[in-house]
Amino acid sequence: MASIPCFIANWKMNKTVTETASYLSDFIGKYAELSDHPPQVIIAPSFTSLSIMANTLKEQGSKIALAAQNLHFEPSGAFTGEISAEMLCAAGCDYVIIGHSERRNLFGETDEMVHRKLLSARKAGLIPIICIGESLKDRHTEKTWPRLQGQLSAVLTDDIIKSGLAENISDWLIAYEPVWAIGTGETPEPDEVADVHRQIQGFIENTAGKGSPRILYGGSVSEKNIETFMKPPEIGGVLVGGASLSAETFFKMIALATNGT
Ligand code: PEP
Repeated sequence: MASIPCFIANWKMNKTVTETASYLSDFIGKYAELSDHPPQVIIAPSFTSLSIMANTLKEQGSKIALAAQNLHFEPSGAFTGEISAEMLCAAGCDYVIIGHSERRNLFGETDEMVHRKLLSARKAGLIPIICIGESLKDRHTEKTWPRLQGQLSAVLTDDIIKSGLAENISDWLIAYEPVWAIGTGETPEPDEVADVHRQIQGFIENTAGKGSPRILYGGSVSEKNIETFMKPPEIGGVLVGGASLSAETFFKMIALATNGT
């Protein structure tokens, strides 16, 4: 597991362009002062804020990376309201979130669609942040691992591995996000998360055989619990939704998790 932790802010459908600029004016400077070896920070704003964020990060020479929250799997065409991988690259994105549970559950994204999105993202050179997670029912019926394994096998298929699109898999990020923990204030114990991360890592190493992506935890991470989630070495970082919307809170979480280094 890589030693530099990774912190992802998923803003979901929040913040206008003006609000984005105001967040960055506070956050970029604080992040730059953290240390000579700062943790990896990735922000995923909504589509309308991608350009201003890309330009601001570039102008200020910031190491913060930019992610989109979603993409369409086709390269172009009659898909009103959708955005392609190539458009995201041109807008300055390095990363893209794929398969977030809100996309799966509210917008009907299937494992097959998640797989096609991964294919499209990789062909365009985007680094994927792949979200997987079990429902509360899965958890209560002891189907957590079968669910996660199913989601991973649907995504990491032979066409991706054999065509070389997974060569850089150690740069990919997998976010283990139990659906029942997202936005609810409920969380699993960090030890439980560490066990799941070990299973994910083993599965990916056996399937792709090209090294291991960093595995992050996501689901109601806050100032109160971030330090405990960062303790197990299997947890390579966190994906934060609600608590990342305040620049002050998100920065405080990063400083707490990295002991202010
Ligand atoms: C998320 O958006 O993936 C997420 C983990 O949200 P929250 O931190 O609000 O639970």
